[in-house]
Amino acid sequence: MTIQQGQQPLSRRQMIQGGAVAAAAFAAPAIVRAEEVHQWKMVTTWPKNFPALGTGANFLASIIEEMSGGRLKIKVFGDKELVGAFEVFDTVSRGTAQIGHGAAYYWKGKQQAAQLFSAIPFGLNPQEMNSWLYYGGGLQLWTKLYEPFGLIPVPIGNTGVQMGGWFNREIKSVEDLKGLKMRIPGLGGEVLKRAGGTPVSLPGGEIYTALQSGAIDATEWIGPYNDQAFGIYKAAKFYYYPGWHEPGTTLEGIINKKAYEALPKDLQAIVWNACKAANLEMLSELTAKNNDALESLINQHKVQLRRFPDDVLRHLRKMSDEILAEMAAADPVFKEILDSLYKFRKQVSAWHAVSEQMVLESRGL
Ligand code: CA
Repeated sequence: MTIQQGQQPLSRRQMIQGGAVAAAAFAAPAIVRAEEVHQWKMVTTWPKNFPALGTGANFLASIIEEMSGGRLKIKVFGDKELVGAFEVFDTVSRGTAQIGHGAAYYWKGKQQAAQLFSAIPFGLNPQEMNSWLYYGGGLQLWTKLYEPFGLIPVPIGNTGVQMGGWFNREIKSVEDLKGLKMRIPGLGGEVLKRAGGTPVSLPGGEIYTALQSGAIDATEWIGPYNDQAFGIYKAAKFYYYPGWHEPGTTLEGIINKKAYEALPKDLQAIVWNACKAANLEMLSELTAKNNDALESLINQHKVQLRRFPDDVLRHLRKMSDEILAEMAAADPVFKEILDSLYKFRKQVSAWHAVSEQMVLESRGL
């Protein structure tokens, strides 16, 4: 074991924060903590190095290693490198990997309410999601939900407002949703089903082939930057907005609780704050790159941009409200979280009606 004197000021500072024990801290001999290197594995639901999401996971691992001076090293695995995308939750819960990165709506089979922490149809935008999670009680509810699985959830990234998706035919009325076979996971999929369509759940890597072969008629994925990277525009012509089903999807970090608690306090703080930094990093990167990609999709690739008609959006909104109310009636945990989210949405809508919304509108005058 290596002895490192450089550790000493930190333990002293921590004890000072402890208040009552401060005096003891100064009386203690100038010791020294063994330099232990922690090795973690991060499993992700993304293909390796996937733009902004996979690279966001890499970014998180690299800043943790840098901030910890190499005391916490994290090896990142893409989809199928260690486990498949849909096995991430169990893998981290078991402790085979110590941290995972994905989206909470993949885990509705574990807990229906998990999907409330990625996005709800017609729900919160990215900044509102962050505010609800950090300051509106959302993260406490999420932590409580994952406790039985030995997992600590943490927001790590947000996709930004998503696009409505790619369609091989136009959607002109509610009738056009009937019989539509679309890749759309989570609650959005439930809404489509009620509107008469057939939702399909596919990991990102399988979307393009499914759309091109005609196995599906439509797909949503993320936004212009990621959609362009997958080449989806080559398989379907009409690109719809808005992403009513995912108005600001939070990406999820899950940390194995035992592994986290085994870290010294300073490394715990590094992990926690690095996740916050990565949260900001991913949203910022995607916002900038979506701008460029939208322009190139329209101008270079001649994509047909379409807005969902109002009556289609109204119908989808009605179906969403119904489904969420039914799910809440059947599951008290779901209800508790949904109530908190709705309360926050109501408040923040009133605030954003006179702030964000008015700025955007006045810019277009
Ligand atoms: Ca999506």
